[in-house]
Amino acid sequence: MRKKIVAGNWKCNTNLQEGVELAKAVDTLVAKEAADDVVVVLGVPFTHLTKVAETVNTNRIGVSAQNCAAEAKGAFTGEVSAEMVKSTGAKYVILGHSERREYYGETSEILNKKLALALENGLTPIYCCGEPLEVREAEAQNEFVKKQLTETIFNLPVDEFKKLILAYEPIWAIGTGKTASSEQAQEIHAFIRSIIAEKFGNDVAEETSILYGGSCKPGNAKELFANKDVDGGLIGGAALKAEDFLGIIKGF
Ligand code: PGA
Repeated sequence: MRKKIVAGNWKCNTNLQEGVELAKAVDTLVAKEAADDVVVVLGVPFTHLTKVAETVNTNRIGVSAQNCAAEAKGAFTGEVSAEMVKSTGAKYVILGHSERREYYGETSEILNKKLALALENGLTPIYCCGEPLEVREAEAQNEFVKKQLTETIFNLPVDEFKKLILAYEPIWAIGTGKTASSEQAQEIHAFIRSIIAEKFGNDVAEETSILYGGSCKPGNAKELFANKDVDGGLIGGAALKAEDFLGIIKGF
């Protein structure tokens, strides 16, 4: 049975004090009300990693960075390495988010370096893919996502690939309030699983958790998560309120 996962992506929101308060609130609600079989992750700003890891019960809630450097160490002013992330107590790192690809020029080549370093340092990558609106309108989303995966995570040896969590996030649904319909989500998740099966075999495909992201809220989580190939969510806006985030976790 593959894991059910709900991961928050706080993006560039909350100062440290607000972040710790939010983490505390999530920790309390999750301890009281979340089903044990749902893995909960908080993707927080670099500056918050250590404190959040100290604040939450890390046996229950995993802490994640939202990025890491493409280099191991050295003269790269302003960068934060995978090893540094790991040393804070974080266990995950979100890689390949569309905002990173679009605003910070992250190419497949850069992402391959980040993936290798994250894995070398024992972090679990939450690897994102997803198409822009014009690609969806041209009905070319499958080819687009296949290329994103073929150029990056499909190059990994199978034992490394098995450590990943995938997230499908259609760019047109991120922060827009426009969610992919349950059918659209299921269709592309099933497609992603089928190309994983082609590349790494059925067993690996069946064990890979594929999260949906893009305006997932308490009100639509249940319907999205009910799909056979949707194994949870990567949550932006709704992860900034502990009650909403819990509401999504309860969507399972
Ligand atoms: P959203 O963001 O839930 O605010 O749409 C999701 C994401 O970008 O991970």
